[in-house]
Amino acid sequence: MNSWKNWANLSKCEPKKIQFPKSLSDLKQIITETKITKETLKVVGHGNSYNTNFHTEGTLVSLKDFNTIQETNIETQQVSIDAGVSINKLVQHCSNNGLALSSLGTNMFDNVAGACSTGHHGSGINYGILSSYLDSFDLLLASGQTLTIKKGDWLYDALGVHLGAVGIITKLTLNTEKRFKLKQEVFPISLQAFQDCMSDLLSANDHVKLIWAPHTNDYQCWIANRTEDSIDHNFMHWKNHMIDGLLINNLVHASLLYTTAIKPAWIRSINQWLSNYFLKGKTQCIGWSDQIFYLPHLLKQDAIEYAIPLDKTVAFLQDLHNLIEAQSFHVQFPVEVRFVKQDNFWLSPAYQKDMCYIGTKAHLLPFLTPNYKPYFQAVSQLIETYQGRFHWGKQNYSSKTYLENSYPKWKEFWTLRDYLDPNKMFMNNWLTELAYKPSKTDIEMFKKQHFDHDLQLVK
Ligand SMILES: Cc1cc2nc3c(=O)[nH]c(=O)nc-3n(C[C@H](O)[C@H](O)[C@H](O)COP(=O)(O)OP(=O)(O)OC[C@H]3O[C@@H](n4cnc5c(N)ncnc54)[C@H](O)[C@@H]3O)c2cc1C
Repeated sequence: MNSWKNWANLSKCEPKKIQFPKSLSDLKQIITETKITKETLKVVGHGNSYNTNFHTEGTLVSLKDFNTIQETNIETQQVSIDAGVSINKLVQHCSNNGLALSSLGTNMFDNVAGACSTGHHGSGINYGILSSYLDSFDLLLASGQTLTIKKGDWLYDALGVHLGAVGIITKLTLNTEKRFKLKQEVFPISLQAFQDCMSDLLSANDHVKLIWAPHTNDYQCWIANRTEDSIDHNFMHWKNHMIDGLLINNLVHASLLYTTAIKPAWIRSINQWLSNYFLKGKTQCIGWSDQIFYLPHLLKQDAIEYAIPLDKTVAFLQDLHNLIEAQSFHVQFPVEVRFVKQDNFWLSPAYQKDMCYIGTKAHLLPFLTPNYKPYFQAVSQLIETYQGRFHWGKQNYSSKTYLENSYPKWKEFWTLRDYLDPNKMFMNNWLTELAYKPSKTDIEMFKKQHFDHDLQLVK
C-alpha cells in the first residue's frame, strides 16, 4: 500500500498512487491523467505540516525530483526555482551567490512552495510571511493551463497563500537581498517589562521573539539585528547548535520528559531547569542570517500556532498563564512568541493586521504520548476570544463559521477556488471541512467582477 507520513509521524496519507515528476511536462501529464480519472490530487512538499492538509485518496505528487534552481539575477537579487526546492537548498544557493532571504522561520527543511502555501513566517514586525518575498509564481491549474501570477496582480493577493487547494505551484521567483550578518542578543525579561517597551523594542530591532517557560514567570527576549561586525568563531555556532540546540533542548529535554510518565507535574521542575539554563543569562553572537534563524528540531512534536492582533500580545499571554494554572495543564517548554508584518494575502493570518504569533507544542516521545489535546483545544478557544487566526500548517480547531468571520475575503477565496477547479481535483477532507461552498450565482458574479472572459489571465 502507498503511504506518506508527515514529519511528526502524526498522520499517514494513503493515496492510490504516489508520483515523482522530474519536469514540467511530467506534471502536466499527471494533470491530464487525473482529469480523465476524475480523482483527486495533492502535492506534498516536505510533509512538515502537522495537520492533514496534503492528504489525498487519489494521487499524491512529491516534487523531490523537481528541484532545480532555474535562474539567479544578482543585479535584481531575484532567484527563480522549481517548486520542489527546499528552503535549505535556496538558502545555500543564495549564500553562495552573496544573497539571502530577508526573514526565515526556524525550519530549513520545508519546500519553499509548501511553506508559502501555508503562510510560513519568521519574526520581525517589519518582515512579512514568506509569500511576501515572492515576485511571481506559476500555478498549474486543473485545466492544464498555467497562470503566471506577479506581485501587483489581484491574483497575487488572492493566491499567495492558497493551502494547496487551487493548483500546483511549479515555479517561484523570490526577491532576496544582499547576504547579511545578524547580531543575536538574548536576555531575560519579565512580561511587565516587555509590555512597557514592546512597541519600541519591535520597531528598534529587525527581528524579535519571546520565549516563555510555561509554569514559570521566566521570559527571554531574543533580538537580532543586521551588522557589519565580524562573525563569531565557528565554535560559538557549533556550541549553539550542538550543545544548546541538539543536546540540551532536544536530547536532555527528551530524557527529562520521560520522567513525567511517573508524575506529569514534574514538567514544572523541568521547565524551571530549562529556564535556568536557557532563559536566565545574557548572551550575544554574530553569524550569517541563516545560522541565526535556524534552530535544530530533533524531537517530534505536535503544535498549534495562532496569530493574534499585535496589541493583544501581553493580555493574551497573561490569560494563557491563568488558563494553564487554572486548568492544571502540564505544558512543555517552550511557548514561542513571534511578530509578523501585515500583508494583503486573502488567506494570510496576518491579512491587513500586524500580528503576534503564539506557538505552543507537545513533544511526542516514543511510548509516552502526553494527553495534550485538551490543552490545545482550550488554548484555541481562548485564542478565538482574541480573534486569532490559526497557522495553516499546524493543528486547528476553528469552525467554518469562525473562519468565515475571521477572513474578510474568505468567501471570495473559495469562490475563486471553485471557479479554477470546478471538479475539485485539489480538494481533500481537511479542506472540505473548512471550505465555504459557493453557489453557482456566487461563481457567476465573481466571474463577472474579476474575469472579462473565461480565464483571460491564463497563458
Ligand atoms: C520542525 C518544524 C518547524 C517549523 N517551523 C516553522 C516556522 O518557524 N515558521 C512557520 O511559519 N512554520 C513552521 N513550521 C510549519 C511549516 O513551515 C509548514 O507546515 C509548511 O507548510 C511545511 O512545508 P512543507 O514543504 O513540508 O509543506 P507540506 O506540509 O508538504 O504541504 C503544505 C501544503 O502545501 C501544499 N503544497 C506543497 N507544495 C505545493 C506546490 N508545489 N503546489 C501547490 N501546493 C503545494 C500541500 O498540498 C499542503 O496543502 C514548522 C514545522 C515543523 C515540522
